[in-house]
Amino acid sequence: MNHKKLFIPGPVEVDEGVLRKMATPMIGHRSSEWSELQQRVSEKLQTLMYTRNPIILSASSGTGLLEMAIRCTTAKRAIVFSVGAFGNRWHEIAEGNGVPADKHEAEWGSGTTPEIVERYLSTGKYDLATVTHNETSTGVMNHVEELAEVFRKYPDVLWCVDAVSSLGGAKIEVDKLGIDICVTSSQKALGLPPGLSLASVSEKAKQRAQRIDKRGYYFDMLLLLQYVVERKFQYPSTPSISHTFALDFALDRILNQEGLEARFARHREIAEYVRSWAKRHFALFPKEEYASNTVTCISNTRQISVKDLNGKLAERGFMISNGYGALKEKTFRIAHMAELQRTDLEELFGHIEEILELTG
Ligand SMILES: *Cc1c(COP(=O)(O)O)cnc(C)c1O
Repeated sequence: MNHKKLFIPGPVEVDEGVLRKMATPMIGHRSSEWSELQQRVSEKLQTLMYTRNPIILSASSGTGLLEMAIRCTTAKRAIVFSVGAFGNRWHEIAEGNGVPADKHEAEWGSGTTPEIVERYLSTGKYDLATVTHNETSTGVMNHVEELAEVFRKYPDVLWCVDAVSSLGGAKIEVDKLGIDICVTSSQKALGLPPGLSLASVSEKAKQRAQRIDKRGYYFDMLLLLQYVVERKFQYPSTPSISHTFALDFALDRILNQEGLEARFARHREIAEYVRSWAKRHFALFPKEEYASNTVTCISNTRQISVKDLNGKLAERGFMISNGYGALKEKTFRIAHMAELQRTDLEELFGHIEEILELTG
């Protein structure tokens, strides 16, 4: 099999050791062995997320828990702060579930500002807001610390954060920021295969959910929480046992072998390197102040064929990502998350420069 090394924003390249853990022999999910595994993983995730909130694991990709969040905790009306395709998806999820919701969509390439959040929350119309931490379609990383200051003024408004493409690659201090529900997926900055997602859930979010009648079943947040908290690290249906073994192993590496600060610094440094390369040969798509530290979205200022470039890269064993949706061919994206090192990016750029005959 000729494997292509992935520089796409999920699924990412998975480390050999993590892949091998996916092949661990099964255990029963009602056993104490399982509960110990789930507890161990949850505690490590609390460290990674800087939170004491309980952690829900889901045998779905991240979209499932985005659905859980908006459906189970909107009593009045939700405001979706969108900065791109994944923000828009959160609004579609609300509509599909009959959850009353409005959307504010920032100009693509820009972020959600405190002023915008203030403008909507001050109307008193909303009791839930969603924010995309890292918008994978545009390469925008929102300044959640600034947004948190606004949310602090409106304690009756819950805020849910989509950290699918950043958690594990950027510091998100859930408790300090007061984030009520923070969601991520396994296949992005955590560096696992797709098929597992997780979320931290605040006490406030739990209390809100108790007032919501129709929470669905598979993504009923209260049922999921009941199994985590009262039944002590259980899961209502069958969990993804393989992913959980792999995550337990991967989190040890993240927390102990590399260390959180070093990991975040590595992502920052690689992102700066990718941005400087992009500016030398093309241009950044997002405003630089919002440029993401896990994925860089590059404007195709040379009008190259991104599709052809990717075809040629494939022959050499690499893969990058075309622009998302309407940004296809107008932009392309290079992800630098999970375990990628600067040398991996240098190698990739060497090939791109050769293929496109770039100099300098
Ligand atoms: C990938 C992604 C999603 C969707 O996650 P899945 O795990 O594919 O369901 C949502 N939001 C963002 C920002 C993403 O990058």
